[in-house]
Amino acid sequence: MTEAASNSELPVPDELRGQVAITSLDKIYNWGRRNSVWPMMFGLACCAIEMICTAASRYDIARFGMELLRPSPRQSDLMIVSGTVTKKMVPQIVRLYNQMPEPKYVMAMGACASGGGPFKEGYNVVSGIDRFVPVDVYVPGCPPTPQALLHGLIRLQEKIDGQSIQSVRWYDDKPSEAIPVPILGPDLVDPRDSRLFAKGSQSAAVSQDTVAAAASPSRA
Ligand code: SF4
Repeated sequence: MTEAASNSELPVPDELRGQVAITSLDKIYNWGRRNSVWPMMFGLACCAIEMICTAASRYDIARFGMELLRPSPRQSDLMIVSGTVTKKMVPQIVRLYNQMPEPKYVMAMGACASGGGPFKEGYNVVSGIDRFVPVDVYVPGCPPTPQALLHGLIRLQEKIDGQSIQSVRWYDDKPSEAIPVPILGPDLVDPRDSRLFAKGSQSAAVSQDTVAAAASPSRA
């Protein structure tokens, strides 16, 4: 008889003992998901080399059912952001995140993806991918070792274990909303702020007109 059945208060007939297991729907659902998390196959910088090592034979990510690194976001459950996140790359990362089906998870691997790392406040680097997409697990290090990445993956499995089919967002009545893809110009712009920018440029234009009118009173 399994441990689950022996701990259960539900009676199991003698003839079925050793052949049945009693568990909750959440547990069996999460058991399936936690052991088949498919990461997306993409890397950004040096941290990606450690991620590649993790998939090789010495560390063998297949032990966790995670060896199927998918080349398409539409087949992926997990985005491992492994490397320096430049402003030029952010729109692509957000677009890929939006293309992943629910349930989906994000891991910030290394100091760069978690908070900017050694390039923090550089002109071309963002201070962490969590400013744009929700991060589930942070793996510290520069770069994190394969063991650290595996530890992060185990933490993700623990997070999945704690989720309930009754409260997860992908079974909500409403569809999950896509994150607006930032626009790259002289700097990154969140399209949700466009009204503020329009308002700001209008008031700047008005004040410029006022200054011009004051400088040439004969025209007035
Ligand atoms: S955290 Fe370190 S190793 Fe990883 S991408 Fe940044 S600089 Fe490279």
